[in-house]
Amino acid sequence: MAAAAFMLAATAATAQIRFSADFESGSMEKAELVSQETKNGKEVITYDFYSRFDPANPARPTLAPSARWYYFKMTGVKDKEVILNVKNSDARRPFYSYDNKNWTRFSAAESPDEKTIIKTYDQDEVYIAYYIPYTYSRLLGKIQEWVKHDWVDLSSIGESEHGRNMPLLTITNKNGKADKKVVYIHGRVHTSETPGSWHLERMIDVLTSDTPYANALRENVIYHILPFTNPDGVVEGNSRSNANGVNMEVNWDDPEEVTAREVKNMRAFLKSLLAQDNVDVFLNMHSQSMHQATYWVHTAETSSDYFYKNLMILANLTINDNPYFAKRDLCFSKMGSRYCEGWFWNNSGEKTLAVTFETPYTYYSQNKDGEWVSLENLRTFADHNVLALGDYLGEGAPYRIIIEEPAAAAGFQTMKDNSKFYNGTSYLKAVKDGAAVKYVFNGRKEGVEIPAGKYEVYKWAAGDNLKESKAGENEWVKVGELQHKGGKKIRYTLKASSGELVDNILLKRVN
Ligand SMILES: [Zn+2]
Repeated sequence: MAAAAFMLAATAATAQIRFSADFESGSMEKAELVSQETKNGKEVITYDFYSRFDPANPARPTLAPSARWYYFKMTGVKDKEVILNVKNSDARRPFYSYDNKNWTRFSAAESPDEKTIIKTYDQDEVYIAYYIPYTYSRLLGKIQEWVKHDWVDLSSIGESEHGRNMPLLTITNKNGKADKKVVYIHGRVHTSETPGSWHLERMIDVLTSDTPYANALRENVIYHILPFTNPDGVVEGNSRSNANGVNMEVNWDDPEEVTAREVKNMRAFLKSLLAQDNVDVFLNMHSQSMHQATYWVHTAETSSDYFYKNLMILANLTINDNPYFAKRDLCFSKMGSRYCEGWFWNNSGEKTLAVTFETPYTYYSQNKDGEWVSLENLRTFADHNVLALGDYLGEGAPYRIIIEEPAAAAGFQTMKDNSKFYNGTSYLKAVKDGAAVKYVFNGRKEGVEIPAGKYEVYKWAAGDNLKESKAGENEWVKVGELQHKGGKKIRYTLKASSGELVDNILLKRVN
């Protein structure tokens, strides 16, 4: 296969350093020796390194194949300075590992520009990867952990082009509420985008965990999660395509004969899901080369005002209090039938909030001097995504109790215009100072025991309909605290000054 070809090229150039990628998710094209010299008693060896292009895309021949992903091993490097000129991809501080388990980012000095990696290695064998690999074996191992819980079911939506299983996790408490909300999440369409898999893994870890909050979510929500839409691409070390070169992100409106088998499986599964139930939210999890996280928010012109407003609320909930996501980071796109979101739009309309979410590979919010993307901060980020989704659905009680404002209240005008991002179908505007609105959460009705104790109270500060929300708008703003002595109902009265807007509130339990 390709492996033999590049090894020959490297071997012919020098017998001293051997390149290989004949392991799971491994990928490279070839390494060509440029020079080999001795400087101050140290061997300095320079290669032109070529990453491997995906196969040509038979479904869309005009789409150029990607060669972003590389993951390979060099043997014979101890105490040598190795310079790699990265040819078909980039080197934005990629990662190395001496044991193929613990990964370190190359420092800024070792990866001084986007095309160069320079390092003297301490050990003879080193692995190098575009980002920390996330393999199919890793996923299968994690699935074995997740399915130990009663609230996790494992099934399959079918097989990939090369016959690999496409496992689906269904996470919910089996004896929970009868009419549950439904969330569908899928990941790893583009196989180089491993930060997205580490991020999604953490979301699944949280949703399957034995904590009161996760339990509350599972009482009220069914999560269907397909972690790998493209197992062949992952195992075979592709960058963006499936085994046949199809970029499945843009294959959703193709006729059956040029649609990837994996997309056909997903379409069939989602059709059967929509036939049974509404899907409230679909998240399409990716990673992108821009130096920021984002949601690709579909503009109101190509969706609807209601859909757009809800997307902006979900996005701003994820940004809320999140050190890795800023209001200016949101991106905007047109709804298109070739995307999975477009498929949902055509089949479910405004009823499914469908959106792509991206983590970066490099750093956050364009801040090169800030934290670079690590497994640790991806986990923190994922915790925010779980909370945001829970708050959006309003299903985290009693640990995060979301209470909608009443449809009308004395001293308030009921508003439904699209100039603000508000939750649900309306919000209230105070028309006099001291107007009071009463919020009540009935635990008996909701089937929730409300623990006695202290709760922080936040209001959703519905703000202007802007692509970049102003500070203090479209976020949770703390308005007070309350002490709940026990009992089935929890109440809060919010007093507003004239002109103040009133929308949902959040009662957050303080342990
Ligand atoms: Zn992608």
